[in-house]
Amino acid sequence: MNNITLMMIKPDGVENGHIGNILEKATSSGFKIKALKLTQLTQQDAEHFYSVHKERPFYIELVAFMTRGPIVAAILEKENAVSDFRTLIGATNPKEAADGTIRKLYATSMGENAVHGSDSDENAAIEAAFHFAKRERF
Ligand code: ATP
Ligand code: MG
Repeated sequence: MNNITLMMIKPDGVENGHIGNILEKATSSGFKIKALKLTQLTQQDAEHFYSVHKERPFYIELVAFMTRGPIVAAILEKENAVSDFRTLIGATNPKEAADGTIRKLYATSMGENAVHGSDSDENAAIEAAFHFAKRERF
């Protein structure tokens, strides 16, 4: 399966009022919304989701940030969804993100960068299953 990715609008994106803008950017770029919800990660959820970074100096800060308020989770569908969505969101550091990308437009810092996109087809499937029950996927 190489046609879905899992997006999260991170707590900063929700707090700053960018839910509508980011969803519009995704759909106008050819992504179809296959699942969508407002939810909040628990400490355990965030530690698990970002466990690959657990030895990094920013891990505690990252988990605190990702749990501090609601997020929007969505499954987005498009051919080459993972790589095309990574292109649309831009570099992790918004200062390095290309013009017109979601992070260039809406991120405030390296840590608070508005949006998450899966980094592989395998992780997209795992992350989609983490957030959505079968009956929530269309
Ligand atoms: P994401 O996985 O959230 O889509 P990404 O794949 O662009 O982002 P990763 O390397 O997976 O980047 O890092 C995960 C998240 O950890 C980043 O989005 C950012 O919020 C945070 N992060 C990464 N590097 C740093 C850093 N040097 N300082 C602070 N926060 C960081
Ligand atoms: Mg990542």
